[in-house]
Amino acid sequence: MINQTFTLRASVAALTLLCAAQITARAGETNIDGIAGFQDTPMLPGTPWHVHDPSRPQPPIVTPGDQPGKAPSDAIVLFDGTSSDQWVDANGNACPWPLEDGCLLSSKGGDIHTKQEFGDVQVHVEFKEPLPVKGDGQGRGNSGVFLMGKFEVQVLDCYDNKTYPDGQTSALYGQHPPLANACRPPGEWQTYDIAFTTPRVNADGSIKEPAYATVFHNGVLVQNHEAYLGPTGWRFLAHYDDHTPVTGPVALQYHNNPVRFRNIWIRPIVPVK
Ligand code: MG
Repeated sequence: MINQTFTLRASVAALTLLCAAQITARAGETNIDGIAGFQDTPMLPGTPWHVHDPSRPQPPIVTPGDQPGKAPSDAIVLFDGTSSDQWVDANGNACPWPLEDGCLLSSKGGDIHTKQEFGDVQVHVEFKEPLPVKGDGQGRGNSGVFLMGKFEVQVLDCYDNKTYPDGQTSALYGQHPPLANACRPPGEWQTYDIAFTTPRVNADGSIKEPAYATVFHNGVLVQNHEAYLGPTGWRFLAHYDDHTPVTGPVALQYHNNPVRFRNIWIRPIVPVK
């Protein structure tokens, strides 16, 4: 047994030395600013960079929030529980929704939207469905997160509440049901994490690529890079018109139900260089 153990250790040591020798002897390896890589490799299509190019700009360092869902260091905080200053009503007037216990409460006064407009974004939203439960189907805890003010990710209380699938919680409303019903009970905080890419348009204003959304509801993947057929509508087949804008605000819907929102932040998606 001792001899076998010794033999094994010797073999591992020899293998380690062999690997180290191979690492230091990699043909073509170059070192730029202390970063090892290669520049004798093929070019990556559409970029000025080689495969494994050490001179390619490093991705920016972002410090994650200290708890899941907390805003990372480069996020634009749209609502932190203290002020609704970032939001206005449909006419550009001050946000009509009241601030209650650090929450925005969807209320009469209509939909609200951010003053700022965005293109491709990552968005985090937390919402709480009302207690006591009132209504059913589309009438229970209905609100919505609208990307570009036009593309809805449905907010609804679908905990023990059925409705048409393309209108349930986290549906791309009227277009695509979620992959799962990940609802928490009403009265509990829930999260949406959304990655949204805007429609791409041709020079003549016609649509080149639709808008897409990837959505996590309470950490569960519910929309996996799904295309929007067009801006959200009710009882018609959504479609794109020519000259669809490519930026817009984030909007929250008032749909006659008192849904609460908190901890809303956004990160414009900056392509890698
Ligand atoms: Mg809605």
